[in-house]
This record gives sequence, structure tokens and C-alpha cells, in this order.
Amino acid sequence: SETLSAERIEKALNSAYEKYRNLNEGANADYIPALAEVDSNLYGIALVTADGRVFTAGDVKSEVSIQSISKVYTMALVMDQQGPGALLENMGVDATGQVFNSIVAIEQYKGAEMNPLVNAGAIATTGMVQGKNADAIWQRILEKYEAFAGRKLSVLEDVYESEAATNQRNQAIAALMHAYGHIDEHYLRATDIYTRQCSVGVNARDLGIMAATLASAGKNPVTGKQVVEADNVPEILAVMATAGLYDDAGKWLYKTGLPAKSGVGGGIVAVSPGKFGIAVISPPLDAAGNSVRAQKAIADISNALGGNPYEIH
Ligand code: GLN
Repeated sequence: SETLSAERIEKALNSAYEKYRNLNEGANADYIPALAEVDSNLYGIALVTADGRVFTAGDVKSEVSIQSISKVYTMALVMDQQGPGALLENMGVDATGQVFNSIVAIEQYKGAEMNPLVNAGAIATTGMVQGKNADAIWQRILEKYEAFAGRKLSVLEDVYESEAATNQRNQAIAALMHAYGHIDEHYLRATDIYTRQCSVGVNARDLGIMAATLASAGKNPVTGKQVVEADNVPEILAVMATAGLYDDAGKWLYKTGLPAKSGVGGGIVAVSPGKFGIAVISPPLDAAGNSVRAQKAIADISNALGGNPYEIH
């Protein structure tokens, strides 16, 4: 396949950036009070090719909380520690067709037949990370994210405190997952570490590199480091494809063919395997909890660059 030229990539990025710059749809998440305070106009795009070239448009320096995008990278950590069977056997790898923090989805199959990218499955996944205590577990998670991003990252403490004070629903989800045997007795510890992982600050460039690492068989194309076993990447992408945008994952796949993951902080990452990773940050969300501008910009850019893996050119 031909290499994407810099000119073609830049044109696609700039045109999507301009096209959606003044779009005024959706609203910041506000069930986590600190997220309502984030600048709704923040808008940045980063595309990183599998051969390590970085292209950006807009604001790629301002950080937002990574939120649910973190679920992908904790999933990668658990797969590296315990192999691909562990998650399949615990919470499963099926789409729920429900909102990301659904309790109905837990009840339906007693915490099975779901996946690591919705809250219940994700908190259980964090509960599976091995380490001698909460600090050791947290360090392993943060180090994994840093390896994917290629730089040191830190928690946005105001976001963490705001969510920790208001996450009773996630605590209930964790308790239910414990009752059904998917998390051990440290389920509130797992919820707290999960809340912390969701509060890690990232900019669009970080997310672009984190996406590109999954586009290049787990090797960070900027640092050159293998950060997740290549064998585990297809399974991660499969769950992103079926459940990365929650109950709108089907619509998204229909339009783009791209495995992707959204977060309520306003970020979305998407992966065109072997070609590029792309990320957009823009806080206003639609009803399903997915960034409005990010979905539109990524779809346009990927379609302009032949990113859909189901499309043969
Ligand atoms: N921390 C958020 C929560 O648990 C993440 C949700 C999301 O990004 N969809 O509610």
C-alpha cells in the first residue's frame, strides 16, 4: 500500500478542523461537576502514522481527563499480565447495547457477557491488575499509560476529587460486580483506582500517539518501544470496534469501520490498523456520551485518507 503523503494528511486535518470549528452541538458532561467547567471550545486533532509521523491541527497542548479512553489501556495491561483468556472468562467481550454505566447490563447476565470498555467491566478489569498494594497497582497502570503516550503523565487532581465525591453509582456497580464474583473484596479500592485512572490528564497529541501505538502492533511509533504484546492488539481492537462508543458503537463502525474509544472528557481515539492512529479532543458530547466534533472530524479525516479497514482500494 502507498504511503500517505504529508500533504494529503495535512489537507484532511485542516479541512476537518475548519469545517467543525464553529459547530455548536452537544454539551460538556456535568454528572462529574469538574467536567462542566472545562472550556467547551477546546478543540484539537492529532494524527500519528504507524511510521511515527505526527500531524496536528488546533489545540494539542491543553489537557483534559482521559476518562473512559483509559479503559483500553488498563485492558492492555491486564492482557499482558494474564493473557487474553482472563478478561474473556471474567466479564466477557460482548457489547451491552446499554449506556456505559448501565446497571441493567450487569443484571442481565449477572456481570458476565459484557466487556472491559463499559464501567462495570472496566472497574472489574482495574480490579484484576496485579500488584502488592493500591500504590503498586496504580504505578503499574500509570506507567503503562505513559509508555503508550511516550511521556510522563499526571492526575488532574480537581477532576479526581470531583469524581471521587460523586461516584456513588460506580461504587454500586463495583459492589454488584463483587456480589456476582467478578471483583474480589477490594472492590471499593478498585473503584478508587479506576476513578484515578479516568482523571489522568492528556492532550490530543498524547491520545494520537496512544492510538497510533495500537495501529502499529503495540509498538509506540514515536519512542520505538514495544508497550503491549503484539499478539494482544487484535483482541483489544475487536472490543473497541464493538463497544468503544457504547450503545452507538454500531453506528460508528457503520460510518468509519474504525475501532475507537471515547471518554466523557471529550476525547476520542480511533485506529486504522497498519496506517494511523487519530485523536480529537472537544468536550461537548451527544446523548450517548460521545464527543460531537470528535466523531465528525475523525470520520471525515479517515474517509479522506482511506482509513476504513473494510474498504479495499
Ligand atoms: N469516569 C467516568 C465514569 O466512570 C468515565 C465515563 C466515560 O468516560 N464514559 O463515569
